[in-house]
Amino acid sequence: MSFNVDLLRSHLESEQEHLAHELEQLKASVRPADERREGSPFGKREEEATETAELETRLGLEKRIRDQLAAVEHALSKFEKGTYGLCDICGQPIDPARLEALPQASLCLNCKASQAKDAKGK
Ligand SMILES: [Zn+2]
Repeated sequence: MSFNVDLLRSHLESEQEHLAHELEQLKASVRPADERREGSPFGKREEEATETAELETRLGLEKRIRDQLAAVEHALSKFEKGTYGLCDICGQPIDPARLEALPQASLCLNCKASQAKDAKGK
């Protein structure tokens, strides 16, 4: 391969650390709902709606971080197996430019595109 695989690996490792840290922070930032409700006897319904929206945002964020973390860990496991840089589906080498832009990419562009198409059809 013509690009620096070691560099991508160290990038992935620091990304893994970063994401794990973010996930921890997100969990630490969760406060009990009662604490926030205190001192606001009015507009309870509105507040509940806000809470639900906040929870959804947080869950969405948490899911996104988890997904990213899973992708990064998957890419790192491919280093162990010696399959890094190869597409998970068709086994063809992934475009190095794509890996440089997105080191945790595990699919080539073709498979990624057909996967996205499948997901949309559901
Ligand atoms: Zn592929």
